[in-house]
Amino acid sequence: MSLITYLTTIRFEFGAIAGLADDLPELGIKNPLVVADVGLERAGLIERLKTVLPNGSEVAVFTGTPTNPTESAVLAALELYRSRGCDGLIAIGGGSPIDLAKGVALLATHEGPLENYAAILGGIPKITSAVAPLIAIPTTAGTGSEVGRAALITLDDGRKLGFISPYLIPRRAVCDPELTLGLPPSLTAATGMDAITHCVETFLSPRFNPPAEAIALDGLERAIKNIERAVTQGSNPEARHEMMMAALEGGLTFQKGLGAVHALSHPLGGLKQVSLHHGTLNAVLLPYVLEFNQEHSGVKYDTLRQRVGIGRGENLADFFRGLNTRLGMPSTLAEMGVPRDTLAGIAESATKDHSSATNPRPATVGDYLAILEAAYAGTPLRASA
Ligand SMILES: [Zn+2]
Repeated sequence: MSLITYLTTIRFEFGAIAGLADDLPELGIKNPLVVADVGLERAGLIERLKTVLPNGSEVAVFTGTPTNPTESAVLAALELYRSRGCDGLIAIGGGSPIDLAKGVALLATHEGPLENYAAILGGIPKITSAVAPLIAIPTTAGTGSEVGRAALITLDDGRKLGFISPYLIPRRAVCDPELTLGLPPSLTAATGMDAITHCVETFLSPRFNPPAEAIALDGLERAIKNIERAVTQGSNPEARHEMMMAALEGGLTFQKGLGAVHALSHPLGGLKQVSLHHGTLNAVLLPYVLEFNQEHSGVKYDTLRQRVGIGRGENLADFFRGLNTRLGMPSTLAEMGVPRDTLAGIAESATKDHSSATNPRPATVGDYLAILEAAYAGTPLRASA
């Protein structure tokens, strides 16, 4: 059993969920609320989880997590948490159940409304150590939410807001690559590209944090070496192990700040007209943002070229375009079904996103619009990234 303590305590190995029997008493949780979604339930993962929980058959389970977590779903889960007398949470699934559970852990111990705690509305210092204990079990290898300090939740009025605090980091992350063996190829590719984008964006973020950069580069290298194998050979244990580690490392480096890819994919993911996968959006946007940032990233592009295994003279943006093609990802926002008339509003929202501040090149509304239009049409921003 390898136990790593960095930001939080992480169990990482095949079969790691069996460790929950120890985690719960160690965190003082007697009666957890399990937060999941219907897909997880259908895949039999909740039944599997119950087999390793003390009194598993009686545990309270909330499966109403929407694709993108909403305030109303947080409140519904909170009601169940209170009515069942719960004293902690276990979130199992992709980023959405984990983010939703962070919202429940917050409101279980902090007076509402949820909006009071949104980062952009000055909520960060209002979140205290009283947040209820949360154990996160990722079933995709991508979001890094299991070790992240942020939760993205759409409020009832439609605003998609970030909630950020060190107290929102799950007290324990249980990373069990076995849970990802059945992940379909398209989701493996999309979530894997999210992990890759986390590593690239945090590495390029201008904040000074060499340890985080080292983690980002290690995660990037593991993901590049394994993503295609994980997509084509879903039951390959080594590929799944490495992708889960890459996703974890992406989450461990978040603290350095993301960049323009995420500043754009957050509002795009909030569009009501069309449901867009966060990882797919990042995959499509990454080459264009790399072109936009090129001259503001110094020698870092050479380091990235080295880690992804291409020569110094080669084009980094085109490397990621090629990877997207091999993974079966779309290549433009148009192909994804993004309505063209939403681009101006997205550009405006991107400047207000918390990830925008750590993009290596400061981006204006006009800059974001240029990136969006290029990514919409599939026209490179410049030829030499
Ligand atoms: Zn992401």
